[in-house]
Amino acid sequence: QFPFGRRLPCDIYWHGVSFHDNNIFSGQVNKFPGMMETVRKITLSRAMRTMQDLFPLEYNFYPRSWILPEELSLFVAEVRMIKDSNPSWKPTFIVKPDGGCQGDGIYLIKDPSDIRLTGSIQSRPAVVQEYICKPLLMDKLKFDIRLYVLLKSLEPLEIYIAKDGLSRFCTEPYQEPTLKNLHQVFMHLTNYSLNIHSGNFIHSDSVNTGSKRTFSSILCRLSSRGADVKKLWSDIISLVIKTIIALTPELKVYYQSDIPAGKPGPTCFQILGFDILLLKNLKPVLLEVNANPSMRIEHEQELSPGVFENVPSPVDEEVKVAVIRDTLRLVDPQKKKRKDTQCLLYPGIADGKLQLKPVKIQVKSGMKDKQHKHHSLKLS
Ligand code: ADP
Repeated sequence: QFPFGRRLPCDIYWHGVSFHDNNIFSGQVNKFPGMMETVRKITLSRAMRTMQDLFPLEYNFYPRSWILPEELSLFVAEVRMIKDSNPSWKPTFIVKPDGGCQGDGIYLIKDPSDIRLTGSIQSRPAVVQEYICKPLLMDKLKFDIRLYVLLKSLEPLEIYIAKDGLSRFCTEPYQEPTLKNLHQVFMHLTNYSLNIHSGNFIHSDSVNTGSKRTFSSILCRLSSRGADVKKLWSDIISLVIKTIIALTPELKVYYQSDIPAGKPGPTCFQILGFDILLLKNLKPVLLEVNANPSMRIEHEQELSPGVFENVPSPVDEEVKVAVIRDTLRLVDPQKKKRKDTQCLLYPGIADGKLQLKPVKIQVKSGMKDKQHKHHSLKLS
């Protein structure tokens, strides 16, 4: 921190929230310009829709979404049309205010007419999304996965995915949504910030029990039940790559406007938080991308009524320390000087084990014909 202004240029600048400093002419910054805007709920939904129109099968990992208020009539019309053609379809929708986080302002509805048009929604745009009614449960509870992804460079595209992440559990046994239970946030929303207030939240010192566990502990349990964990990982990796590919056009516009080619400026990297839900058949579904994932490794504990203390959280520590450590290793300026990096796993590092694994990207996009079937997007 530089309370009296910065005098010497730095190798690495670690900004708290976003890329906001136009007086950096060298080194590396831990944020991309425009990332916060690009991953907001509405912008993400738009980017995913564009790709779903072009590559419907490749992008079927993102729930059908509409933007409110501008697409309200489209939402109503499409739902009516699908219901007319398939009367047994009994959907639930989740309404999420744009720019919200930690479950703030989120609610579930059964019918488009239940959208709250008075008050906040009018002034606050939102995304309404098909609600995933049959998520994979563990111990009868819904959970989601927070994975950490390092976007190391936009051009060339370099992405690393942390080998471990967090699984955040609901605190009420899950039931498929009905009009009676729609409002039960501890049953339907996996946000830590909400569930921590439930009397059932379990802080555990072990990484494989409690309301927050490591993703690897979930994989172990799935694998012991005979699930194809390798396939799950490869589906998750392609979800991450395809999502970032969907975001790159917008990110490049911001990048070129803030750091024009030919002018001295820093390079950027960024740790992103991907929130993913697993379906019963283990298909991963993207819920959202977080530009500023919490890196806290402690949680608050109430010692006596009204008296709180920060205590270490072993699960957060296990996952997040590795992410920060490996990010610093990967962007290490000394490393860069020693050898203009091409190698993705650094053999020079003492233990040689990076928790962030590189993903290989090879995109082929054939635009031979206006028909969708001629577009191809292959990842290897
Ligand atoms: P926020 O940024 O407020 O956390 P999210 O999009 O992550 O918003 O949604 C909050 C929670 O709601 C998620 O963690 C998940 O448990 C649940 N959720 C969000 N979207 C869906 C969906 N389409 N289907 C089922 N559950 C969802």
